Amino acid sequence: HAHIDHATPEKVQAAIAADDTHAHIPDYQDFAAYVADGGYAALKDLRANGDWEAVQDKVLASGLRGLGGAGFPSGKKWGFVRANAGPRYLAVNGDEGEPGTFKDRYYLERVPHLFLEGMLIAAWAVEAETAFIYMRDEYPAVLEILAREIAALEEAGIVDPGYIDLRRGAGAYICGEESAMIESIEGKRGMPRHRPPFVAQVGIFGQPTLVHNVETLHWVARICREGPEVLSSTEKNGRKGLRSYSVSGRVAAPGVYLLPAGSTILDIIEAAGGMAEGHVFKAYQPGGPSSGLLPASINDVPLDFDTLQPLGSFIGSAAVVVLSEQDSAKAAALNMLRFFEDESCGQCTPCRVGCEKAVKLMQADRWDQGLLEELSTAMVDASICGLGQAAPNPIRLTMKHFPDEI
Ligand code: SF4
Repeated sequence: HAHIDHATPEKVQAAIAADDTHAHIPDYQDFAAYVADGGYAALKDLRANGDWEAVQDKVLASGLRGLGGAGFPSGKKWGFVRANAGPRYLAVNGDEGEPGTFKDRYYLERVPHLFLEGMLIAAWAVEAETAFIYMRDEYPAVLEILAREIAALEEAGIVDPGYIDLRRGAGAYICGEESAMIESIEGKRGMPRHRPPFVAQVGIFGQPTLVHNVETLHWVARICREGPEVLSSTEKNGRKGLRSYSVSGRVAAPGVYLLPAGSTILDIIEAAGGMAEGHVFKAYQPGGPSSGLLPASINDVPLDFDTLQPLGSFIGSAAVVVLSEQDSAKAAALNMLRFFEDESCGQCTPCRVGCEKAVKLMQADRWDQGLLEELSTAMVDASICGLGQAAPNPIRLTMKHFPDEI
């Protein structure tokens, strides 16, 4: 019988304190520095004599769109939530679990108060009773920064104690889906709900809930401080605005790049320092594994909602992963489906069984394309949420663009 050294809370705390790699806190703009730079003046002004519809108009004029698949105009949500009687809630989706996405982390570890002020402006606009932040637990530094800075906001009297409720995710990708996130916030297993009703009507504990992504709120603060032009004045390839691309893979300088929303994949690779030495551009994932893989030959389209949809892909959270001639599209697609198989919440059969079956079929030397296509149709048509509906994208795009490999 092995001796078991039971962990007491004191021992765990001591172990965390001794391990200085546990959460390396980067230099960031704290509350005092943000206020010295004019921070929270916009929020105070709005609370004193603001008109929420005027702020909504500004957000709409900026062209800010949600970062889910549909690219819904962010300002419109406020009216939908306000149309329902209170109490209302705000929930921030900070789960950032899309493989290849790290832009929220990037902003939160540098300028957390832009996000927090934007969140409080949105909470003010819909008269939210509580603002929940659902934060990815794999970001220990971000959690520490937020805990410190929320305490600073409480101390300064900008929010009442407990008004901002910081929750930790538990590593489930599906909890980035807004209704699964709400289930998780309620203390239940994170599984997507059927819609309608939409969360703007029936959200946390059955109440109308405004759900925004971290980056969206970062922009709300900047729009209020700098005007809608901060986004709308940039124009490229017929598209207005800016987008934060998380760029990784075979590029010389992986990182977060803020570029015009009309950028093509070649612009993005160029911003990331070009291809890594010795690598030739072959394919790319434009927006997370749900967006599948596109070939290097599709390189002159702006990566946007309306351009990628007809190609069977989407921009999503703009997680761009670049592959080179040294990578296999077939292996990458299989890897994506393995991820979905792991992360399917298991609630509905087309997704739960479909992902498992797809992985088996994709492990074969030669893909049974007819069967994979049938399976894809069933998954797209009959899955409850976006995970199961988008999981076939990597299958279909690989069959279409990389037929020699499969
Ligand atoms: Fe769960 Fe998949 Fe169904 Fe979504 S599609 S509810 S992840 S089983």
